[in-house]
Amino acid sequence: MGYTKEDVLRMCREMDVKFIRLQFTDIFGVLKNVAIPVEQVEKALDGELMFDGSSIDGFVRIEESDMYLRPDPNTFVVFPWRPQDGAVARLICDVYNPDGTPFIGDPRNVLKSVLAEAAEMGYTMNVGPELEFFLFLTDSEGKPTTITHDKAGYFDMTPIDLGENARRDMVLTLEQMGFEIEASHHEVAAGQHEIDFKYSDALDVADKIVTFKFVVRTIAQRHGLHATFMPKPIFGINGSGMHTNMSLFKDGTNAFYDPSTPDQLSETAKYYIGGLLKNVRSFAAVTNPTVNSYKRLVPGYEAPCYVAWSCRNRSPLIRIPAKRGASTRVELRSPDPSCNPYLALAVCLKAGLDGIKNKITPPAPVDENIYHMDAARRAEFGIASLPSNLAEAVDELEKNEVVKAALGPHVAERFVEAKRDEWDSFRISVHPWEVDEYLVKY
Ligand code: ADP
Ligand code: GLU
Ligand code: MG
Ligand code: MG
Repeated sequence: MGYTKEDVLRMCREMDVKFIRLQFTDIFGVLKNVAIPVEQVEKALDGELMFDGSSIDGFVRIEESDMYLRPDPNTFVVFPWRPQDGAVARLICDVYNPDGTPFIGDPRNVLKSVLAEAAEMGYTMNVGPELEFFLFLTDSEGKPTTITHDKAGYFDMTPIDLGENARRDMVLTLEQMGFEIEASHHEVAAGQHEIDFKYSDALDVADKIVTFKFVVRTIAQRHGLHATFMPKPIFGINGSGMHTNMSLFKDGTNAFYDPSTPDQLSETAKYYIGGLLKNVRSFAAVTNPTVNSYKRLVPGYEAPCYVAWSCRNRSPLIRIPAKRGASTRVELRSPDPSCNPYLALAVCLKAGLDGIKNKITPPAPVDENIYHMDAARRAEFGIASLPSNLAEAVDELEKNEVVKAALGPHVAERFVEAKRDEWDSFRISVHPWEVDEYLVKY
């Protein structure tokens, strides 16, 4: 694309834009925005708009609260569901300090730093995410329930119902906002859906993921449904993942592809896989950042729980899809859509670069179904498990210098602190399971 400031000003005039939402995310990936009338947009594009950073989770303390927003002109898009006269557009922003330097606590800036490191090595990162979500009914007061709108399963054609209409509307809206939708389908669980869009460079995709979640939730609401990206809303059925397909390109060609090797994977691809496998237990806290994330990573629901890779089957953490040439890619299956995509892509890339820099050869691929192996057989293959809860994941993160370097000290410290609090709040709560199990028994 490559829009300039002048392009944005012209598009605002041509499309009769009245309000602009300036957006950015906090360290938990929650999208924040401030609306400005179009008359202020030039000032905003010049980076002159200030806000109070101390009110944003994980940003700064009260005594250093002045922060500036610098909109990225490339992210200009009009919201198709708002009126076309006096339209509403948005711009995603970078966060800057008063002295004009990029703010190190801004997740978009964290990703940019790791992308710059990759660029120094000659690489650009391409990412294709597969976001899954549930659509739930709302009650008479409009509050979300956990009752699914349908009882359909994988690839089912549901009768025309709220869900199918909503999904169609989501796809059309995303297309109007510049997404190239590759496929959309009903997922395995009742009420669960997936919409896939075409891969592109990592920064654009991270922006697209936050936009995607916001659009899906907005359109669902307009259909009287609640869309959730919570990883495991219902016990006993599949949870929602965000499989992350990644590749590195060098000089315009896919650096993971090498037609001269038996599996047509380059040495770079192998080292990248080696780096992911080595660091994945430590970056799980970022790719799977909630207490609930670890309820998904259990056997029996198509989500990974063991640290292994394969070209053949879908049970391991990393799958190498059969396509080669420009589509050669590594599919990491652990991330879930509750992650902050800027931070998640930053830690994945940093882990892969660690593999390339330190020539980390991955263990042999595991083509047997790992779920059918017992613990002894897994030990024979040297297959570790992903962390079993958020507390373990945070402990692993704290011990790993590669992951902490990807996040930078500011984000790493605040992230660990916040996630420990989150775990503690869960730990001391009394859950419905405990009441069911013990109330009558004791
Ligand atoms: P699955 O085989 O797991 O069902 P999908 O076909 O649903 O995968 O999604 C594949 C994703 O991978 C899409 O987003 C697609 O654009 C993306 N993709 C294709 N080629 C590449 C590549 N070279 N690098 C990164 N992502 C890619
Ligand atoms: N929903 C599954 C998960 O939690 C993935 C299903 C699939 O392979 O698409 O990761
Ligand atoms: Mg899926
Ligand atoms: Mg997949």
